[in-house]
Amino acid sequence: MEMDIYNFDKDTGMPITITPEDTKILNFKIIIHEKCGKKHIDLEKFATFNHRKHLCLECNEYFYDHERGIGT
Ligand SMILES: [Zn+2]
Ligand SMILES: [Zn+2]
Repeated sequence: MEMDIYNFDKDTGMPITITPEDTKILNFKIIIHEKCGKKHIDLEKFATFNHRKHLCLECNEYFYDHERGIGT
């Protein structure tokens, strides 16, 4: 069952599919937005599933990590 309640990307309309593994085995990691060099930390619901697309709060810009995970 797809958990499309996590389809938070309303800006681009791109669907975000979360696999059961993404909510079961959480890949916590250090994620740096290369453009500004700031650490990306996922909070609240974004810290509950792995994702590749992150929103930098410094630039207010989306960027992609090379793998799915959670910024910590
Ligand atoms: Zn994120
Ligand atoms: Zn940034």
